[in-house]
Amino acid sequence: MAVLPPRPTPTVEAIFAAYEIEADDGFRNHLGASLIGKNCERALWHDFHWTTRSHFPGRILRLFETGQLEEARIVRNLRRTGATVLDVDPDTGRQWRVEACGGHFGGSLDAVAIGLLEAPKTWHVLEFKTHSAKSFAELRRDGVRASKPRHFAQMQVYMHLTGLTRAMYVAVCKDTDQIHVERLPADRAEGERLLAKAERIIFAQHLPARISDDPAWWQCRLCEHREVCHEGGAAATTCRSCLHSTPVVGGWHCARWDRPLSPADQRRTCERHLFIPDLVPGVVLDAGDDWVEYGLKAGGTWINGARPC
Ligand code: SF4
Ligand code: SF4
Repeated sequence: MAVLPPRPTPTVEAIFAAYEIEADDGFRNHLGASLIGKNCERALWHDFHWTTRSHFPGRILRLFETGQLEEARIVRNLRRTGATVLDVDPDTGRQWRVEACGGHFGGSLDAVAIGLLEAPKTWHVLEFKTHSAKSFAELRRDGVRASKPRHFAQMQVYMHLTGLTRAMYVAVCKDTDQIHVERLPADRAEGERLLAKAERIIFAQHLPARISDDPAWWQCRLCEHREVCHEGGAAATTCRSCLHSTPVVGGWHCARWDRPLSPADQRRTCERHLFIPDLVPGVVLDAGDDWVEYGLKAGGTWINGARPC
């Protein structure tokens, strides 16, 4: 008979529950450079349009925190090698940020550094990641470009937007504390390709193609948008899933009320919310002021909004 794992104690349950209580919805104002290396453009569109709220268990949220806590230690480690490491912009006192596409695409660098032993005269973008033993072994065997394409893409975007020509990837194995360091040159063509990809997704008029129409495809099985993408699940109701909203330079705009939408507005929505038709599993049959009627794939009709009698 299989041995059951030990029951969690109330203390462990309470620790993880606290993470879940404090967790936010996972919606980010911009499309992140850390995501742009995803293979599925539809998944990126869903990320940007806030269609799926995050529901990570407390243990996973704590694991994310472990990765963040490690960053300060790596900065200390690198400084002890003699490098000058700037984890914040001295002019602002905040993390180094890059952005593009009218402010809708960007990210925050872990740090920049000069005086690194491998190339002391060159400023580098620094990217820090923690890995499981399996992931760390793959990284060592295949290098970051092949084994962690999303991290590779993230660094290319940072180099492209800062103008720095080198990045250093510092990876720590969570099981053994081994450290893998890899330097990467900027690839201008790759940087431009990634920026064009971000622009295509941010200003897309329609849902981009799926990476697979088979929900059993391995990337779909792991995707947080699987329910809304493949199973007819409802998208989260925010301004970003409303057909009246548009990303514009510096923010979002609502055509229904002709006004800008702050991030708080986007979460609050209003009573005139109407889903972007691509998010409804059906076809538009009719529409009027503040309502749209759909013929659903599952059968029957559905009126989004309030059709006057
Ligand atoms: S479920 Fe699959 S096709 Fe749909 S967004 Fe996710 S990865 Fe893309
Ligand atoms: S109509 Fe309402 S829900 Fe839609 S974008 Fe405007 S404020 Fe947001």
